[in-house]
Amino acid sequence: MLCTDCQSGYHAPYDRFERLATKPDVPSFLMRCRQCAALWNESSGVPELLTRTHARWLYPTARI
Ligand SMILES: [Zn+2]
Repeated sequence: MLCTDCQSGYHAPYDRFERLATKPDVPSFLMRCRQCAALWNESSGVPELLTRTHARWLYPTARI
């Protein structure tokens, strides 16, 4: 269940996110909401809400 903030998207307050992993080559960041544990992929494009499976596939070394 997403928190109210995540339901309306990836936006401020950004301190609700914890950075779990980085892909320096892209660059992109795997971010987790501290309120609801939603996983977001932050990159140069539109931030994307990820499933656990998708996040593990994108960031195999992350401890999700
Ligand atoms: Zn959230």
